[in-house]
Amino acid sequence: MDISLQQVGYLYAKDSPFEKRALQDVTATIPSGSYTSIIGHTGSGKSTLLLHLNGLLKPSEGIVQIGDTMITAQTKGKKMKEVRNHVGIVFQFPEHQLFEETVEKDIMFGPINFGVPKEEARARAHELVKLLGLPDDVLQKSPFELSGGQMRRVAIAGVLAFKPSVLVLDEPTAGLDPKGRKEIMELFHHLHKTESLTTILVTHSMEDAARYSDRILVMHEGTAVMEGTPEEIYSLEDQLHSFRLSVPRSVRFQRQIEKMSGQRFDRIALTEDT
Ligand code: ADP
Repeated sequence: MDISLQQVGYLYAKDSPFEKRALQDVTATIPSGSYTSIIGHTGSGKSTLLLHLNGLLKPSEGIVQIGDTMITAQTKGKKMKEVRNHVGIVFQFPEHQLFEETVEKDIMFGPINFGVPKEEARARAHELVKLLGLPDDVLQKSPFELSGGQMRRVAIAGVLAFKPSVLVLDEPTAGLDPKGRKEIMELFHHLHKTESLTTILVTHSMEDAARYSDRILVMHEGTAVMEGTPEEIYSLEDQLHSFRLSVPRSVRFQRQIEKMSGQRFDRIALTEDT
């Protein structure tokens, strides 16, 4: 499902004394099947943009198109809700939203509320636990008995239980140690490849953007200022600097190797230690 934004603007607290413009004239495309990273300095509008991608906010100006659904300032709540069936969002610290007495019930909660029969929801929960690399016996445990990394996986399973075709990730590795970060990022990489999930990652990590995505969208002061493959974006170093961003170490390292070996890599090679 392609997502496109045409001249999207967004104002928080519109028409109040606290009005604050967060997005201005954002035009961008996120192709179906891509893994797109959205990068930009704090306050550049990444989170606000993300909330437009699954119908949690509607634009003050312009059009957000998600598959066949067009969302404008006039769109009614019901249509926005429909979008949420197709686009799943994993917020920062998703484990804070776990609340049921068992993992199985927690994963089943969303689908059951959307009218999925109980047995089907249960079967989905069992499949997802496997897919996310959790042992079967977690299903009957309380989510609060699990380790931090396992809790995060359960919360992610709760989003995947809706069978979204687009998965939006807001800094999904926040608060994890390097090992946990890598495991979660590898998990999303795996899901993207095996489940053909269009993946949209909002990240502070230029390394993760280089390592995992095939497209990058750069936000600056509420506007989409650059769009392209990681190779294209990271070759425009001066432009990146003007948006207060820098080329990650792994990419610099790869360039040096290319220079020394005279060999050119097709895509950013993924060194292990970055
Ligand atoms: P980022 O995710 O890149 O840090 P945000 O989308 O959070 O950027 O913020 C974009 C702009 O909107 C910033 O100037 C921020 O202060 C403002 N903003 C974000 N959330 C709100 C809000 N709930 N009310 C008012 N202004 C907000």
